[in-house]
Amino acid sequence: MNGARFKILVVDDDAGARLVMRAAMSKAGFAVRMAAGGQDALDQFRAEPADMVMLDVDMPGLDGYQVCTALRAEAGPLLPIVMVTGMDDLASVETAYLHGATDFISKPVNWALMVHRVKYLFRGYQALLDLQASEARNKAILAAIPDALFELDIDGCWIECRAPRADLLPAPPQALLGRTVGETLPPAAAQAFTTALHGALEQGSSVGEQFELELPRGRTWFELSVSRKAVGSGQKPLFIVLARDITERKQSEEKIARLAYFDSLTGLPNRQSFLDRVDREIARAERSGKRLALLYLDLDGFKNINDTLGHAAGDLILKWAADRLWDGLRPSDLLSRVQVGFRPDALDFDLARLGGDEFTAMLLGLEHPNSAMTVAQRLGESMRRPFVLDGREIALTSSIGIAIYPEDGTDAATLLKHADTAMYHAKNSGRDNAQSYNVGLTDEIVRRLELDTSLRAALERREFHLVYQPQVDVASGRIRSVEALLRWIHPLRGSIAPAEFIPRAEETGLIERLGQWVLETACADAARWHAQGLPLKVAVNLSPLQFTVPGLPEMVRDVLARSGLPPQSLELEVTEGAVMENTAATHAALQALRAQGALIALDDFGTGYSSLSYLTRMPITNIKIDRCFVHGLLHEEESEAIIRAILAMAKGLGMRVTAEGVETGGQADALRAMGCDSLQGFLFSRPVLADAIPALAGLEWRVADGAAPASDVEPGTVH
Ligand code: C2E
Ligand code: MG
Ligand code: MG
Repeated sequence: MNGARFKILVVDDDAGARLVMRAAMSKAGFAVRMAAGGQDALDQFRAEPADMVMLDVDMPGLDGYQVCTALRAEAGPLLPIVMVTGMDDLASVETAYLHGATDFISKPVNWALMVHRVKYLFRGYQALLDLQASEARNKAILAAIPDALFELDIDGCWIECRAPRADLLPAPPQALLGRTVGETLPPAAAQAFTTALHGALEQGSSVGEQFELELPRGRTWFELSVSRKAVGSGQKPLFIVLARDITERKQSEEKIARLAYFDSLTGLPNRQSFLDRVDREIARAERSGKRLALLYLDLDGFKNINDTLGHAAGDLILKWAADRLWDGLRPSDLLSRVQVGFRPDALDFDLARLGGDEFTAMLLGLEHPNSAMTVAQRLGESMRRPFVLDGREIALTSSIGIAIYPEDGTDAATLLKHADTAMYHAKNSGRDNAQSYNVGLTDEIVRRLELDTSLRAALERREFHLVYQPQVDVASGRIRSVEALLRWIHPLRGSIAPAEFIPRAEETGLIERLGQWVLETACADAARWHAQGLPLKVAVNLSPLQFTVPGLPEMVRDVLARSGLPPQSLELEVTEGAVMENTAATHAALQALRAQGALIALDDFGTGYSSLSYLTRMPITNIKIDRCFVHGLLHEEESEAIIRAILAMAKGLGMRVTAEGVETGGQADALRAMGCDSLQGFLFSRPVLADAIPALAGLEWRVADGAAPASDVEPGTVH
């Protein structure tokens, strides 16, 4: 002990006694101050507190007891106050104790002994001070801990309970203390406590037991950390238990699990969990010798919904589509639907969303592979009903591919790949249908990939060219306009039809550049005819996808300006599909194009499902009757009725009507009689190279009379 740090106040009315006391204490290393009486002592202490006070009992004025009482009240319970009493004066000792003295020394004082006595007292005082500091610290620590804190014995009996907030306790402390976890908690939570206590009994501490409680504040998750408390031998083991509120962590874990296993939009399992599940079912099917089918479903034209109606509408439609698929799958085809509050491994699922607008279904226990096709067709049917969004009907169809275990694959990944391949085949077979996988399809995919690659290079390699098909004006028998049609001569495969490569160009995004090239070439050719004194109009086909690229009207305007072709000599052909699928964006683009002066023709009319009232709001100048009606004209009453209806409507709206695919004089005759404005078809000319157009334009057809040219100029090179 370093006595110099400690200050002693010696209080005695006897100056001699004070001096002796000071000499002894200073020698022992204490800093000593003196007071000659009770009041002096109090004044000095108040001015500068000492670490110990030695008080003579018997003093005039305030006596030792009074000073002792006052100091105890002011300095607190720890300050060592030593009373110096008369020898064997037991009554004084007792009185001193009652007044709050810490110890007593009796006179005459044995100085050597007294110094040691004081040292002992100081050590005790210091220990008390340390204890007080550590208690204060513990208290602060406890206050800072966000966890509920308990003391329990090995039987799970609550000994102490405290929580930073009362709502973290399973019950008020008085309802817990003295009872066991088994008596006060639900079984699972009690079990978590018991396990944690026994873990700590063996290892000294245990961490990580979790349980859930239904508290007034809501469902709350806790995690326990337990440490064994030191107790005397033979005493029952005791434990300090911290219960941490981990509800937030649990919720985010659950969310992550859901994201990992489920698609958040539809609540359906995602690709990974679906594949896991399929693999498990395959293992089962292998043992039982049963079949299993995967259906891969892709919504047709869904991208347009997103592009034009926005993602919120797209999301809504995906949810509805998922619901319809559920409804379309008979309960016997599948297992139960995903439950909320799931445990991923414990789930049965049958329908999944793979991402975007792609879904898959697994059908179990198939008796016959054909049943998969029946189910697929039912799903396709359920998608066909229009979705109604904000009072507007949105038509969607789906393309479905089917792969069967074991015929088409013996693991989930292969089956899914093959179902995907079959789905692509369905897309290429005109969408809105279902196809089963067969080995040939894989070859087809490879072929298509090759096609995509060479298509990308084809523009640079100048493998494209345009041909033009005349449109004969019925009134004059003359060619007033021509339609530009794209041709691709592949270096190895020769001529490839637009029906084959245009969808690929759309799919690969090449259509944007290709479409612009067509427009530039057609305008340049037409401008050249104009320069030669042939004011022909040129019709250019636009893909629906070109309308999804912003800036289409500006692009057309620039191309026209560069070529010098008057805008009213350009007719843009759009299909019904393009107009219907892409409503808002397409409408705006068409209005802008029309405002620039270009004409707008509605191509292949009659094949889509356009609502007429809707079309009247579009700036359409010309309707092209699809060739299937022209083809049926002379032998199907229905075709004739449709053509008449189209003509009546178009005339009413002030539109011109062109008939496509006119192959016979009989058709031409009938169409003229019904009031068509212009005719296009092999009867007059196949599509020909640009150079052949001027010669054809010099001809005059007698439309009603077998369409033979009236003059004797030879038609141009037929292409
Ligand atoms: P479309 O716009 O309806 O073009 C008319 C198609 O009918 C052309 O086929 C033409 O050769 C064919 N055709 C013309 N007269 C007759 C006839 O009397 N009988 C029969 N059976 N067919 C006739 P093509 O050139 O194979 O083009 C097919 C489709 O490809 C076009 O249909 C058009 O939708 C698309 N297409 C062609 N060129 C382009 C283009 O530059 N851009 C875009 N986006 N699509 C194009
Ligand atoms: Mg066309
Ligand atoms: Mg057409």
